[in-house]
Amino acid sequence: MFACPIDGSSLDDSLTCEKGHKFSYNNGIYDFINQDYKADKLLESVAPIYEQIWAPFGFFLTSALSYNSLLKKIGSIMSSEVVLDIGTGTGRLFDFTNCKTCIGMDISNKFLYILKQKRSKVIAVHGNAETLPIKSASVDSVSSILVIHMLKNPQVAIKEISRVLKNRGKCAIVVLISNGFISRILSKWWKINPKDDNYYVATIKEFSLKIKEKQIMGPWELFICEKN
Ligand SMILES: [Zn+2]
Repeated sequence: MFACPIDGSSLDDSLTCEKGHKFSYNNGIYDFINQDYKADKLLESVAPIYEQIWAPFGFFLTSALSYNSLLKKIGSIMSSEVVLDIGTGTGRLFDFTNCKTCIGMDISNKFLYILKQKRSKVIAVHGNAETLPIKSASVDSVSSILVIHMLKNPQVAIKEISRVLKNRGKCAIVVLISNGFISRILSKWWKINPKDDNYYVATIKEFSLKIKEKQIMGPWELFICEKN
């Protein structure tokens, strides 16, 4: 299931890759953000995402869909053997998802500790959305809710989602798009430059993912896709 996030090579039982990068397992969390990574500028630019992903919930409550009904919908689509949730936070999506191998990845250990306490069957992974520590073509479903728009280059994360998905595997992506007043406020607050619907449609297609459904909810957009 896991692979080296730096070079993609296999890991042995002690979580060391073929080229000698070492990772660890501590307090129930697989840690793929090691010393090398901490020095990485890329990661630092990604770090604020996860701390703030909970903040927009209020906006969901004011949109047509409640957050719970959105999670319920995504969870039922994601339900399959191997499920990966990128930017899982405390792993709430797994309350709505049936999976045998349930992998919750986040960049914040703080959230992962809570996840481990609340949802012990979820495999907690400390990792980066732009270099997933996951083998290619090994996952049935991937979700990423309120994460990818925070990245400087959302394309990289979408490419990674496609890479780890099995053929015909499903994905669900929820992002902030540049659409209206609330979007402008959030973008200013987060200091991001959100992309529009066209960007996501083109990027998702570029990486061999077929859009099965999309839905705009105020400043948010949900994409349900399948790997071709
Ligand atoms: Zn390596």
